[in-house]
Amino acid sequence: MEKKTVVVALGGNAILQRGQKGTFEEQLANVYHTCEQLADMVLSGKWRLVVTHGNGPQVGNILLQHDAAKHVVPPMPMDACGAESQGLIGYMIQQALHNILDRRGRGDIPVATVVTQVLVDKADPAFQNPTKPVGPFYREDEAKLLRDEKDWHVVEDAGRGWRRVVPSPDPKAIVEREAIRILVQNRAIVVASGGGGIPVVQEDGELKGVEAVIDKDLAGERLAEDVGAHVFLILTDVEKVKLNYGKPGERALDRMTAAEAKRYLSEGHFAKGSMEPKVKAAVRFVEAGGERAAIASLDQALAALEGQAGTQVVP
Ligand code: ADP
Ligand code: MG
Repeated sequence: MEKKTVVVALGGNAILQRGQKGTFEEQLANVYHTCEQLADMVLSGKWRLVVTHGNGPQVGNILLQHDAAKHVVPPMPMDACGAESQGLIGYMIQQALHNILDRRGRGDIPVATVVTQVLVDKADPAFQNPTKPVGPFYREDEAKLLRDEKDWHVVEDAGRGWRRVVPSPDPKAIVEREAIRILVQNRAIVVASGGGGIPVVQEDGELKGVEAVIDKDLAGERLAEDVGAHVFLILTDVEKVKLNYGKPGERALDRMTAAEAKRYLSEGHFAKGSMEPKVKAAVRFVEAGGERAAIASLDQALAALEGQAGTQVVP
């Protein structure tokens, strides 16, 4: 039987759990747990696997490290920090997945991470309206100093302190798509577009990194189209998508069509920056010809891939 291709988008909880400190050991242990499930998909013999992942806490810590050490080592810009986080997380996934597959007799399956740039449009309205919080929390006076010194946008974040916000433009194209396709066609498990990819723009005919953060689910959807995926599986920390989330009349959805999903989007059922981009990405995927998208919890990954758990999104 010809294998189908799945792109799995891992949420933050696949690498770091809420309340953990973020030591390397903690993150690697979480990645092992996640990779056990990814290995089950591969070893079922039915799926070619491409993995993408979030990087919020990791890139936040890298930015903090660069800032804290700025008098000793020149700090790197955000795009370079994004690349660092892709390398770090890709390394953990490569090692964990290889060790798990090897234990189960399939250490021959190649696993490779592709440092991935994602093209965005310089004219994207997001650049005029930065919304995505990144990095550490500051006191109001510190935040305003940084705003004036570095030309940052800063906002008060839900009573928790002040933070820098950056633009979150729409992903237009995966720059490394051909390299990724070649690896997938040659039976490699590929980790790509981590953290939504490193945002780049075309300037005078050249690619150039920009200070922005692309939503990882929307970038994952582009990746899924580019590798011709049959299924796009978004794994997060809730079992299903809900209507009236956290309100009276809350209802979990087993299945929705793209048309229903668009109606729910317009009715405002999904929070911006968390569930909304997942549902948008699922709709884009099935409207672009994908068979099915699913939004599910990490612990029900395989069942959701088989259509038996989570919220299934169909054309
Ligand atoms: P991830 O790291 O997996 O991308 P996010 O925090 O971005 O995680 O998105 C998952 C979160 O979306 C859930 O923890 C949940 O609190 C939130 N959420 C917002 N609206 C909804 C909804 N309508 N149904 C389910 N979850 C929702
Ligand atoms: Mg998210």
